[in-house]
Amino acid sequence: MPDIISEVARRRTFAIVSHPDAGKTTLTEKLLYFSGTIQAAGTVKGKKGGKFATSDWMDIEKQRGISVASSVMQFDYRDHVVNLLDTPGHQDFSEDTYRVLTAVDSALMVIDAAKGVEAQTIKLLNVCRMRHTPIITFMNKYDREVRDSLELLDEVESVLEIRCAPITWPVGMGKTFRGVYHILKDEVIIFTPGKGPLDEVEIIKGIDNPRLDELFPLEIDQTRMELELVRGASHPFVLDEFLDGTLTPVFFGSAINNFGIREILNALVDWAPQPSDSAAIQRAVSPTEEKFSAFVFKIQANMDPKHRDRIAFLRVCSGEFTRGMKFKHLRLNRDIAANSVVTFMAQGREQVEEAYAGDIIGLPNHGNIQIGDSFSEGELLSFTGIPYFAPEMFRIVRIKNPLKIKQLQKGLQQLGEEGAVQVFKPLNGGDLILGAVGVLQFEVVASRLLNEYGVEAMFESTTIYTARWVSCDDAKKIADFEKNLTNNLARDAANSLAYLATSRVNLDLTMERWPELRFHATREHA
Ligand code: GDP
Repeated sequence: MPDIISEVARRRTFAIVSHPDAGKTTLTEKLLYFSGTIQAAGTVKGKKGGKFATSDWMDIEKQRGISVASSVMQFDYRDHVVNLLDTPGHQDFSEDTYRVLTAVDSALMVIDAAKGVEAQTIKLLNVCRMRHTPIITFMNKYDREVRDSLELLDEVESVLEIRCAPITWPVGMGKTFRGVYHILKDEVIIFTPGKGPLDEVEIIKGIDNPRLDELFPLEIDQTRMELELVRGASHPFVLDEFLDGTLTPVFFGSAINNFGIREILNALVDWAPQPSDSAAIQRAVSPTEEKFSAFVFKIQANMDPKHRDRIAFLRVCSGEFTRGMKFKHLRLNRDIAANSVVTFMAQGREQVEEAYAGDIIGLPNHGNIQIGDSFSEGELLSFTGIPYFAPEMFRIVRIKNPLKIKQLQKGLQQLGEEGAVQVFKPLNGGDLILGAVGVLQFEVVASRLLNEYGVEAMFESTTIYTARWVSCDDAKKIADFEKNLTNNLARDAANSLAYLATSRVNLDLTMERWPELRFHATREHA
């Protein structure tokens, strides 16, 4: 029997967080290439155009002819098992994107160095900060004219509230990009585009090595000057601070040119944490416990209307999953036959026989599984920390055929429980309101209402700007609030009270006027 402790110790589960076009797809492909998972890496071409955009990884699958599941990839590197989870962006951005971050132990942040910190990165980093997720940073596209490197670090520190510890430092940029200086190893790794994982890389020891002056007289002096400044302005790498999520090691490179990839893989293996304890209401669950346990962080509906199947993505929290074993869906108190369980491998489609903490397994189902559901071999566990996020987009739902109101309500109830969209019922009895963080969520709901519930729904825009869940220990205060602001209040699928604000100013004013109440931007799954 494999030793659970050593299996857990060699697991690394992470997600790439970035703004669209920063290079996530390219980097994913290069990570697979440098880990030896795929044989050749080419240029990742144009983005998807279809209405229901598939994951970026589907694109890789098509282009490379390799078999990758849509959103989870497992590969081996230096005798470690690495699980890479996709955080869909573009029109795919949804609450699931956020929730993926509740299933990882670390994150790799990719920044387009010509652009700096962008909107989607800020949103995703907010979730990482909430969870103290360790972050590794990759400054991408140094083969182009990019922004000043010190300025980029400064922006990361001030906007994302995380200290930067540069591990490498660029020598030049754009047409004069010469390589990176590895601060910890005191060596310059020379840039040559397109080197593969097996090619030799030229390395020059020592930043004061005269060979560097011969090769790049202009750039190396500049780099030495910058390094003086860096020493004063940035922070040394301290592993514990990285693991706390307060400090990020920063690497520079160019994903498309295969430059800087190996350093990232090594940082993941050497520094990123193995799976740690998972919090359940009952107790903390250690990854090395013998008994299997897991929770659902994402549900992916099959877009094919002929198939109603959905896949629930489970993160294994403890124990050993083996093919054919039985485990329990705790909310429904029902046994699951595990022979239907699928695993996600980047190489080949072979059925995986076992999974350990940190691994992701997929459970096909017909809609009876919800986000946040827990599974075990029998012990009652309710894993916590899988939040709902305050929506940023709202639509009022109307139906063409009023006789279908029952089906509409049933459909929205189920879609709401599943986490596909948030459903708010106004206290004043008005039309149902849908809330989402990405527009695709509304399209998915419209299509599923039609295909699965036979309801043709129309969505209209609203003046709502954002929502906050409201709580207070004093029931009387809440009752007062409900009475005074009935027209701005609603209950969600879990019956939690939410304030629907029409603007930032409106929200601030309301919070000021009701100081005894707490306004929450996230809500934990019940
Ligand atoms: P994603 O949207 O984050 O998945 O980004 P992609 O990986 O699709 O990359 C967006 C664009 O940036 C594509 O045209 C890539 O070819 C390009 N790109 C990615 N990495 C680099 C790089 O290191 N240098 C340059 N010049 N372009 C890059």
